Amino acid sequence: MTTIIIGGVAAGMSVAAKLRREAKDETIIVLEKTDVISYGACGLPYYVSQENPDITNMNIRSVKQMRDSGIDVRIFHEVTQLDPFNKTIHGVNPEGTFSLKYDRCVIASGASPIVPKLSSKNKRKKSSH
Ligand SMILES: Cc1cc2nc3c(=O)[nH]c(=O)nc-3n(C[C@H](O)[C@H](O)[C@H](O)COP(=O)(O)OP(=O)(O)OC[C@H]3O[C@@H](n4cnc5c(N)ncnc54)[C@H](O)[C@@H]3O)c2cc1C
Repeated sequence: MTTIIIGGVAAGMSVAAKLRREAKDETIIVLEKTDVISYGACGLPYYVSQENPDITNMNIRSVKQMRDSGIDVRIFHEVTQLDPFNKTIHGVNPEGTFSLKYDRCVIASGASPIVPKLSSKNKRKKSSH
C-alpha cells in the first residue's frame, strides 16, 4: 500500500507521522514543493520582529529526521496534476517531470487567503457626537 501526501507542513507531516506509527508496512511518500517541511508558522511574527533571529528555531523536524523514521520525503517536488481515475500524480521537480502511482492520496497543500467582498452597507456609521 502506498500513500502519497501532498504538502509537508502541519497537516501533511501529522498524517505521515501517525501513519508511520500505525501502518508499519505502508510506503509513505511526502511531496513538498519547497525545501522546508514541518515548521511552526506561529513562530513567524517572532522572526519578523527579530525576537527570535534564528529562523531554524521554527523547524520541528528536519527532512533527514523524517527520512530516518521511514517517511520518503521528497522536497522540490511540486504536484501539478492529480488523476484520481488512474490513481496517478504528476508533477515537476528540478530534474524535470515525474509521475507516481498511489493507493491513497492525502491533499495537505494548505490554503490561500482571500479578501472578502464586504458591502459598504456593513461599515459602521460615524458617530455624530
Ligand atoms: C503568522 C502565522 C501565525 C500562526 N499562528 C498559529 C497559532 O498560534 N496556532 C495555530 O494553531 N495556528 C497558527 N497558524 C496557522 C497554522 O500555521 C496553519 O494552520 C498551518 O500551517 C496549516 O498547515 P497545513 O499543513 O494545512 O498548510 P501549510 O502550512 O500551508 O502547508 C502546506 C504545504 O503544502 C505545500 N504545497 C502546496 N501546494 C503544493 C503542491 N502543488 N505540490 C507540493 N507541495 C505543495 C506548501 O509548499 C506548504 O509547505 C499561524 C499561521 C501564520 C501564517
